[in-house]
Amino acid sequence: MIDLLIAGGGPAGLAAAIRAAEAGLEAVVVEPRPAPVDKACGEGIMPGGLAALHALGVHPAGHPLRGIRYTDGLRTAQAPFRGAYGLGVRRTALHTALHERAEALGVRIAEGKIREVRQDGHTVTADGLTARWLIAADGLHSPLRRALGLDHPVPGPGRYGLRRHYRTAPWSDLVEVHWSPQAEAYVTPVDEHLVGVAVLSRDRRPYADHLAAFPALAARLTGSGTTPVRGAGPLRQRARAPRAGRVLLVGDAAGYTDALTGEGIALA
Ligand SMILES: Cc1cc2nc3c(=O)[nH]c(=O)nc-3n(C[C@H](O)[C@H](O)[C@H](O)COP(=O)(O)OP(=O)(O)OC[C@H]3O[C@@H](n4cnc5c(N)ncnc54)[C@H](O)[C@@H]3O)c2cc1C
Repeated sequence: MIDLLIAGGGPAGLAAAIRAAEAGLEAVVVEPRPAPVDKACGEGIMPGGLAALHALGVHPAGHPLRGIRYTDGLRTAQAPFRGAYGLGVRRTALHTALHERAEALGVRIAEGKIREVRQDGHTVTADGLTARWLIAADGLHSPLRRALGLDHPVPGPGRYGLRRHYRTAPWSDLVEVHWSPQAEAYVTPVDEHLVGVAVLSRDRRPYADHLAAFPALAARLTGSGTTPVRGAGPLRQRARAPRAGRVLLVGDAAGYTDALTGEGIALA
């Protein structure tokens, strides 16, 4: 019998599969989208995250990040990371590296979507597969969290994220955060010729309008946009509990904490 079935082949699901395989468990990942999977993301891995990735044997190519700079156009505050560096990395490159490592360890990655779960005292069955345990790593809007009755509605306006890439040489090895009362724009170098710009806001205006509110940044990027705008949100999601029987919520499925505002504490 499969030891661990994992719904969702994003970073959380693949990392869990790698850990399980390293521990000698048979792990199967079910993911609906073909590799490499892309997603709206700021694509900045902090030093602690990078160390964790390396410990998994995952070494994606990207652009070193030496620290963070905040600016509102008039004032700037910046700080280097202490003694370590992070990595700006395209989601597709991160996914490929995780996927390859999982497959090299013998993890089976099946195409499919898990919608329903049946479980008894010893097993859990989903999508025609039976395993001893199931990890739900199916993202921010986790269908499994909802199906298991673990959703915890969060009142109030949510924040949303939009991101696009620009073909230009990075002008800094810091993550540069431009902020205004309406939004923040996170600029992350992801390779020698590419930067990603993710905008986070409660205000649901189009991406181009958000960018226009940061004229110095917009001027640097004019004419170099190279990927379509991708979005995600509302970001604030919570779970009533981290598990239901033999099913454990992992990654964004377990609840999302907004990195900047601290909203959405992971578990109720
Ligand atoms: C705008 C924005 C900027 C961000 N910037 C950063 C950043 O700079 N640095 C950082 O570390 N984090 C950042 N994050 C957060 C980061 O993107 C997420 O925390 C991360 O992607 C969570 O990984 P995950 O594997 O839990 O979920 P996901 O990456 O969402 O993966 C979930 C997977 O589950 C699959 N799935 C969905 N439904 C099913 C189903 N029914 N059955 C099977 N599979 C299913 C999906 O196809 C998907 O591949 C950002 C997020 C946003 C929105």
